[in-house]
Amino acid sequence: KRSGPGQVEYYQAVEEVLMSLRPLLDQDTKYKKNNIIARIVEPERQILFRVAWVDDKGEVQVNKGYRIEFNSALGPYKGGIRFHPSVYGGIIKFLGFEQIFKNSLTGLAIGGGKGGSDFDPKGKSDNEIMRFCQSFMNELYRHLGPTIDVPAGDIGVGAREIGYMFGQYKRLTGRYDGVFTGKKIAWGGSLARKEATGYGSVYFAQNMLAERGQSIEGKVCTVSGSGNVAIYTVEKLQEVGAKPVTVSDSRGMIYHAAGINLETLKQLKEVEGASLAEYVKHHPDARYTPVADYPAGRNAVWSVPCDAAFPSATQNELNEEDAACLLKNGCTLISEGANMPSTQGAVDKFLEAGIFYGPGKAANAGGVATSQLEMAQNASMQQWTFEEVDGRLHRIMKNIFLSASETAKEFGQPGNLVLGANIAGFRKVADAMIDQGVV
Ligand code: NDP
Repeated sequence: KRSGPGQVEYYQAVEEVLMSLRPLLDQDTKYKKNNIIARIVEPERQILFRVAWVDDKGEVQVNKGYRIEFNSALGPYKGGIRFHPSVYGGIIKFLGFEQIFKNSLTGLAIGGGKGGSDFDPKGKSDNEIMRFCQSFMNELYRHLGPTIDVPAGDIGVGAREIGYMFGQYKRLTGRYDGVFTGKKIAWGGSLARKEATGYGSVYFAQNMLAERGQSIEGKVCTVSGSGNVAIYTVEKLQEVGAKPVTVSDSRGMIYHAAGINLETLKQLKEVEGASLAEYVKHHPDARYTPVADYPAGRNAVWSVPCDAAFPSATQNELNEEDAACLLKNGCTLISEGANMPSTQGAVDKFLEAGIFYGPGKAANAGGVATSQLEMAQNASMQQWTFEEVDGRLHRIMKNIFLSASETAKEFGQPGNLVLGANIAGFRKVADAMIDQGVV
């Protein structure tokens, strides 16, 4: 039953999960008896608020703030905060819904939530970012707590924004709580958190390949995005002997047949905040294609021939035609670093073709899993080494893969990790909801 206008991304995410659940719901009547579907699609709480702030010209600006505390059956709400002009209720709701199952799949004690704002950080001064973050926290702080709701970063929110929000939380409450993850190392962050989503997506790809005795070494890979997830996907791919040849941002894409230069990428994106158009100044053998020159209705990244693709920018960035092009060019593996980057038509094509397909809620779960490790370190007042955290990340990604893969086999569809991840993630949350009664 669809109610209310818009929310197209939310309906897309719900439809995908519900279609996968049919075999489980047919097999076990307890979910129907407890009306779990109607309960799980309804967020426990949605907080919508005004964020007023003063820009550098002294003018008052107003944005919308969101936090959706979707499901706490397995633990405190956990999920990132996104600052991007495209943010509206449907985006935060789809991300929060996906987060429930992703967090469940990690095997850790975390519930699902997501938040954000339609604030556009591009072109804003450092002081404007700080004032916005402080105003955002003036409302959000009252809903957070280390055992209540623990946000993290997402698109447009990195360690700088987390710092400003954490500082304001501390000022308002007087408490040095572990209420955010993705903090800087010196004040409570975890080593390897920054790298975790990208690294985890590559580990997931390695697990998919290893099951059939294959390796990622030597594979030509396309990567979209050039933010946190994309950069550390490129880094890990290079470390394991694969060759990433593309990256993109909202303005265009780079194709570098010799392999993306990681140092230049980090310099442009982590240090200068520059456009990828600058990349070709350092590497004249690379090619830059602005968005205006992409084939109509397509993302040019997916036209580059590759063995494996790592969508790591944003939702619905890979459509049915892009999928057909990837398959035509011989791509046999997709590992989704971004949330819901492939449209339903694209996913159907990948499943039909029987290639390795790692859906976002499984393949990119390394980020939130490592966030939970950050919470564990904060709660025990310890700091683990990079190797300790990375080792745990390795094991968690393997377990997520096994859980999705074994569940797909259990329901007679071996290799269908969409079905496997959705059923495995759902079953654990739904069982906990039943145990905890009708609330
Ligand atoms: P960042 O803000 O660090 O980077 C986002 C990248 O994607 C940038 O290169 C950005 O380009 C590009 N991008 C964003 N929106 C669009 C758009 N509408 N069209 C084209 N390009 C776009 O974000 P993250 O790397 O953290 O997040 C990327 C994806 O991964 C998101 O889907 C996020 O939800 C998901 N994810 C992130 C996790 C994390 O730990 N960070 C964990 C799990 C999932 P530009 O710089 O020009 O805006």
